[in-house]
Amino acid sequence: MNFSNRNRPHFLKAAQQQEFDLVVIGGGITGCGIALDASLRGIKTLLLEKNDFGYGTSSRSTKLIHGGLRYLKQLELKLVRDVGRERAIVYRNARHVVLPERMLLPIVKNGSLGKQSSSLGLMVYDLLAGVKKSEQRVMLNKHFTLEAEPLLDESKVTGGGLYFEYRTDDARLVIELAKSAFKEGALLLNYAEVRSFVKSDSGKIAGLTVMDKTSDATFEVRAKYVVNAAGPWVDVLRKEDGSLSSKRLQLTKGVHIVFRHEQLPVKQAVYFDVADGRMIFAIPRNGITYVGTTDTVYNQDIDSPKANNQDVQYLLNAVNQMFPSVNLKKEDVVSSWAGLRPLIHEDGKSPSELSRKDEVIVSPSGLISIAGGKLTGYRLMAEKVTDSVALLLSKNFSKHTQKCVTKKYLLSGGNFATREEAKAYLKSLLPKFGALGLNENVATNLFHRYGSNTEKVLSYFVKTDSMQTDEMLLRAELNYCIEHEAVQMPEDFLIDRTGYLFFARNETATKIKLVVEQLTNVWQWNDEKKQKALQSIQQKYDDAVMFE
Ligand code: FAD
Repeated sequence: MNFSNRNRPHFLKAAQQQEFDLVVIGGGITGCGIALDASLRGIKTLLLEKNDFGYGTSSRSTKLIHGGLRYLKQLELKLVRDVGRERAIVYRNARHVVLPERMLLPIVKNGSLGKQSSSLGLMVYDLLAGVKKSEQRVMLNKHFTLEAEPLLDESKVTGGGLYFEYRTDDARLVIELAKSAFKEGALLLNYAEVRSFVKSDSGKIAGLTVMDKTSDATFEVRAKYVVNAAGPWVDVLRKEDGSLSSKRLQLTKGVHIVFRHEQLPVKQAVYFDVADGRMIFAIPRNGITYVGTTDTVYNQDIDSPKANNQDVQYLLNAVNQMFPSVNLKKEDVVSSWAGLRPLIHEDGKSPSELSRKDEVIVSPSGLISIAGGKLTGYRLMAEKVTDSVALLLSKNFSKHTQKCVTKKYLLSGGNFATREEAKAYLKSLLPKFGALGLNENVATNLFHRYGSNTEKVLSYFVKTDSMQTDEMLLRAELNYCIEHEAVQMPEDFLIDRTGYLFFARNETATKIKLVVEQLTNVWQWNDEKKQKALQSIQQKYDDAVMFE
């Protein structure tokens, strides 16, 4: 059976008919990582996500698989080591959606980074993260730093360091995890919101009340154990459980803004420091450059954080200072996104000082909450949580499960043993793309979204004389995502599966209409539902450039 909401009636029935070993709340990177790990161990798992998979922080990050160079400054050596080493594993298991990215760390007069300290820092980073020789840091003099990035201010630059990170598409990594978990036997439902906990006489959680947001119907599911992987919403659920303690989340907002690449034509990714000592990325990608991030305490609406004027001004100042010739203005921002970091509160610490470590909190009712952490370390977090669940299942239910195998598990789309194999697969597809009138660029972009499933996407391509090639391709991609990636709403496709709304805004306006029409046909929406879907995606489209 496909991972499609066409099968939703069946999934809903299955969710209610059995008791699950484990129910995971939250379909971000953490929840989907746990669902995959657990299902691979033979743990009967259900995952419930109240919006779309990846809707939360996991689609609004800087989109890097990185060890967190700046955490070295905070002496978080274990975090840098664990997460740094994890980069190579995440890359190996999903080569299509994780790509090596060379970073330039410029050193400027009166900046917070010194030549020697940066060189030493990058060396320690390479050592801790176990970086292979060919990707270890190289220090540059002024001349070569400016050659690497001519946009830098010649009067200020004194040198730089080159080192490697990995770039990803966060929401695609999440959906590949969800698809993999589904393939391994987990049941995953999007638009299924956990409303409350069902408890036994002894006060232990025995199940959940869930609302199916596609029909507004409420139902119950039964569970031996429940993991709360709700990211920024973790404390909302702990409160519902009656277990919110002094250990609580501190949310901080991080904003990214997007420019056309011509307006900020960086030759490569740059990681630079700004006047307040924080570090900012400028990352080129497919005709755009995105810049971020901010880090400010956030106490407002968790469901839809947005960039405001202050955030945008902060990033504009930072970028104009580092690259003075670009002189960017608010009107040049073509898109933006804002995410919330679910960090653990520590008294007296500023947002940037708060640790990115993850933490597991178990409540008296048995609710296992996991918070903090990073996209990059998702697999380790999943292993830790699933180990605890496996132990509980063995102790209390005599259920014996296998050991964690995710270290070597190739994710959906990442079915390549080596980088060369991935490249050869892409090359082998080029004639097929050519025959449909699609060039190499289109093929490469599609490959970096769907990897070894790209051919399946192409199988949905229907040639007709009445349509432009672009439209035929969009329909193919959309139909694939409806049939194999559980797309329900227009934003699922235009934001999470493809990133079009953030990275190809100009063409998105015309795509919205087509996507809404197609989904109206598939889900048989009445006019009210269709208008609601249209309004929802239009609002998100407007929010990306409206700053208050
Ligand atoms: P989320 O992705 O937020 O997932 C939680 C999910 O739970 C949501 O989808 C939500 O809808 C769902 N949910 C909530 N309540 C309910 C309910 N009642 N019922 C059902 N579902 C519910 N890390 C990196 O490694 N690299 C980076 O480059 C990076 N950059 C970052 C930049 C920014 C600006 C931010 C904010 C974070 C960044 N991070 C980065 C950290 C990383 O993005 C997060 O640690 C990670 O995405 C958190 O994932 P999560 O699954 O825990 O939470």
